[in-house]
Amino acid sequence: MQSPSPIRNRKYATEITVANDGEHVSIAGWVHEKRDLGGVFFLIVRDLRGYSQVTLHKGKVEKELFEHVKRVPRESVVAIEGKVKSEPKAPLGYEIIPERMEVLSEASQVLPLDTTEKVGAELDTRLDARFMDLRTERTKHVFVIRSRVLKAIRHFFDAKGFIEINTPKIVSAATEGGTALIPISYFEREAFLNQSPQLYKQMLMGAGFDRVYEIAPIFRAEEHDTTKHLNEATSVDVEVAFVSDKEVMAILEELIAFVYSKVMDYPDLGKLNLKLEVPKLPFRRITYDEAIKLLSEAGEEIEWGEDLSTSAEHTLGRIIDELYFITDWPCAIKPFYAQPATKGKSICNAFDLMHPKVELASGSQRVHSYELLKRNIESKGLSADSFEYYLDTFRFGMPPHAGWGLGVERLLMSMLEINNIREVVLFPRDRRRLAP
Ligand code: ATP
Ligand code: MG
Repeated sequence: MQSPSPIRNRKYATEITVANDGEHVSIAGWVHEKRDLGGVFFLIVRDLRGYSQVTLHKGKVEKELFEHVKRVPRESVVAIEGKVKSEPKAPLGYEIIPERMEVLSEASQVLPLDTTEKVGAELDTRLDARFMDLRTERTKHVFVIRSRVLKAIRHFFDAKGFIEINTPKIVSAATEGGTALIPISYFEREAFLNQSPQLYKQMLMGAGFDRVYEIAPIFRAEEHDTTKHLNEATSVDVEVAFVSDKEVMAILEELIAFVYSKVMDYPDLGKLNLKLEVPKLPFRRITYDEAIKLLSEAGEEIEWGEDLSTSAEHTLGRIIDELYFITDWPCAIKPFYAQPATKGKSICNAFDLMHPKVELASGSQRVHSYELLKRNIESKGLSADSFEYYLDTFRFGMPPHAGWGLGVERLLMSMLEINNIREVVLFPRDRRRLAP
């Protein structure tokens, strides 16, 4: 009969301390490093939470075990049983003296990446071998934090009585009639991957679900190869009835501060060397007119009614240097569903939430009058017929409402001071990258 596998009662590296001196333990993980000092051999075993130092003294352990450990290739998966021994010179104050090692999966010899990060690698190389890149300390923390962020967001909305929704990602028409759609073949028809849950979350306002949120992918055929666009991104979308843009802005800034506070609670945050602070509420608010005035003073001329370029966003970010809202946008550069500030005016109750380096979210009070909405759709050169199902909901009792969409990756990259958005997605999709 085989002896019981040590993996059944394995401990994470972080669950073992010097207080376990003399105890038998089982660990399992990847061979992170091997250091041969002649008479002593160190094997560093990595698991999700930390590293264990396994020490073999030549002559003191069975020769067969010594050779076995020495030969196991780096990044192989091993299970080790041994005794904890206090050792002041070891980084954690203890080491594991092995009695048995089982190689659960032997790794090939030439590794695509150095998981100890002593040898750096280009982002493309890292993304090609993402499974291995995820074994590195920094990348792993990014995704554990990402999980915390998503949990925090759900916690925040649940506490406020929101309903979490799931809307279709395969659709027949564009949300905003934009060109950024990804077409797919859907049986005998053409369909698209949805670029935003906008129309559906508004339809739910008409259904009486008066506060909803969705965390889901959005798909956009972004032509450009930038560091802030993905073709498959994750959006946090919110819609609330019986409120205006002001209330949903307050929800957004409160959520951001809450997420920051949860990230700051992350025990390993220190390893990422960030200057993170919970942003103070309320965030600064400037109007679009004030933004173009500030830009003009900084030597960057924007024609009224023109959208802000990336360079303009960066200039403003340098001037303001904190999270801020830009409000009162020209309706011409906002979608058809944004509510004009006053009747017939060209300014809309729309806002963008900005980090000094990148736009985080866009939102607005929405048009809830059927006639105005239909006129807006047509004046943007779109056909009202293709919005029939959406428009119908406005004919049978639609409350006033407002909402926003926040990019999860934009939030993460800005919080974690990461320059390329691809770093915060497990398997990013951009124009050139469709695998892994
Ligand atoms: P940008 O002008 O920065 O390209 P946008 O104004 O086109 O963004 P919105 O339609 O306002 O984007 O979408 C709401 C939010 O979703 C954005 O503020 C951003 O955080 C996120 N987002 C939109 N498109 C992308 C994308 N291609 N990749 C990553 N995040 C995105
Ligand atoms: Mg936007």
